[in-house]
Amino acid sequence: MKFVRLLSLCLITTVLFSCAKSPTGRSQFIMFDADKMSKMGIDSFEAIKQEQKISTDKQTNQYVDCVADAIIRVLPSDWQHGWEVVVFESEQVNAFALPGRKIGVYTGILGVAENADQLAAIMGHEVGHVIANHGGERVSQNTAANVVLQGAAVMTQGSEYQQATMSVLGLGAQYGVLLPYSRTHESEADVIGLKYMIEAGFKPEASMKLWENMNKLGGNKPMEILSTHPAPETRIDNLAEHIQKFRSNGVKPLHARPSC
Ligand SMILES: [Zn+2]
Repeated sequence: MKFVRLLSLCLITTVLFSCAKSPTGRSQFIMFDADKMSKMGIDSFEAIKQEQKISTDKQTNQYVDCVADAIIRVLPSDWQHGWEVVVFESEQVNAFALPGRKIGVYTGILGVAENADQLAAIMGHEVGHVIANHGGERVSQNTAANVVLQGAAVMTQGSEYQQATMSVLGLGAQYGVLLPYSRTHESEADVIGLKYMIEAGFKPEASMKLWENMNKLGGNKPMEILSTHPAPETRIDNLAEHIQKFRSNGVKPLHARPSC
C-alpha cells in the first residue's frame, strides 16, 4: 500500500518533481533539486567553519584526507571530484558529510575510531547519506520542514534559515535542533558505506568494531550516526549479513589497501 501511495504521489507530481532511486534501489520522492541541496550543504558548512576551530595539525589532516581520498575514489564516477574535507579541533564525537561535497570530521571521533578502517566506516556511512540524497528525501517528505524551508527561501540567510537547513541535513546536534535520519536512512547509509569500504580496500569487519566502540560511549552520543539508536546488536548483525552478501555478489577491493 505504501508503495502504491508513493507511486501515485510520484505520478501526480511527476511534472513538477522527480521520483528517484537510492543506490540500494529504494524508490524516493524528491522535490528539491540537487543544486538547492548543494547550496544548503555549502552554506551550512561555511557556517560551521566560521564557528568551529579548524585543525591545522598536519599529521591529523593527512590521516583524515588519506581515508577520505580512498573512499572518494570509489564513489560513482560523477561523485569522485570536488570534495572538501575539514578536520575540526573539538572533543565532540562527531563527523558528517553534506550535499555540496563537504566532509567534516571532529578530532573527538578519532579517539573512538581506532584505525583507518574504522574511520572509513564512518566516512562511508556519512558520504552514503549524501550520495543517496537522504537530505533531499527528508526535506521532501517532511511537510513541516518544507514550510520552514519555503519560508526560508525568501528570507535572507538569518539564523533561522541556518537552523532549519542544518537540522534537515542531519547536523544540529551541536545546535540543539537535531532532526535524526530515519532508521531506513541509517541502515541504507550503513550498507552503502560498507560497499565503499570494501571497494576502497578497507576491512569491512572494522565497521562492526566501530559500532561496538560507539555504543560503549554511553550517555555521550551527540552525533547523527547514533541519533536514531537502531538496537546495536541489530545494526552489527545487519553489517555482518551485508558483508557476506557483498562478498558472495563479487564486490571486491578496486584498490590496494590504503596505508593511512
Ligand atoms: Zn547516519
